[in-house]
Amino acid sequence: MAQVILLGTGAAWSGPDRENTFMLVRGHTTNILIDCGGSPTQRLAQVGIKPSEIDHIILTHNHPDHVYGFPLLLLNAWMAGRQTPIHIYALKDTIRSARKMLSALDFRLLPNFTPIQYHTLVPNSIIALPPMGEFDIAGTPTTHFVPTLALRITERATGRAFAYSSDTSPDKNVVDVARDVNILLHEATMLDESRQGHSSALEAGAEAAQANARELILIHVPPNVKPQKWRAAAKQNFRGKVRVANDFDVIEF
Ligand SMILES: [Zn+2]
Ligand SMILES: [Zn+2]
Repeated sequence: MAQVILLGTGAAWSGPDRENTFMLVRGHTTNILIDCGGSPTQRLAQVGIKPSEIDHIILTHNHPDHVYGFPLLLLNAWMAGRQTPIHIYALKDTIRSARKMLSALDFRLLPNFTPIQYHTLVPNSIIALPPMGEFDIAGTPTTHFVPTLALRITERATGRAFAYSSDTSPDKNVVDVARDVNILLHEATMLDESRQGHSSALEAGAEAAQANARELILIHVPPNVKPQKWRAAAKQNFRGKVRVANDFDVIEF
């Protein structure tokens, strides 16, 4: 069974026991990083993965809490001797930002740097990403302050899938991309108030119900999160299993 390992679960302002939200999809033939929060190498070391073992990086959007660890991860992959390409997937603005980060840090001066292949994704209601190992991945635009992707990751052999909302207000695209998933990882930056660009636990519950997800895991939570309260709010709208994510949770899907 494929695994997604939560390397961070906090909102943009994270707490003492949460890194910003990013995660590793660990397959038998490939490793995919979704977003790249701080200390990626330290986080990966805790789950027994080297930065050079990451083959694909999907950056959901160009906000610091989702991309700021990216240059360090690439630096460490190169230091570990990786010479096969690392593939980066993102919308246009985020690809531009990723390139600028590396150029601002003078990566061109590093000899024999790891090859990087950029894949610019074109916004559409459903965006099919290139196949990655044993996974098929679809994206869809969300409602956030900048162009952002929600994702559905499907293990091809079994059809089992999870979805990750990334940052978004409630959005029909997210419901559509998460249809009938085993697990929906949905952001819950607030408890029950509506705010532009983000979702509450209450709203995440409604999204999970509309998508007919089997289980809802609340992620991208603030430092003062009260798990029981967040869970109860989501439960008002969703009858399935609900919990609040913690760093280093291993989720089988
Ligand atoms: Zn965020
Ligand atoms: Zn954001």
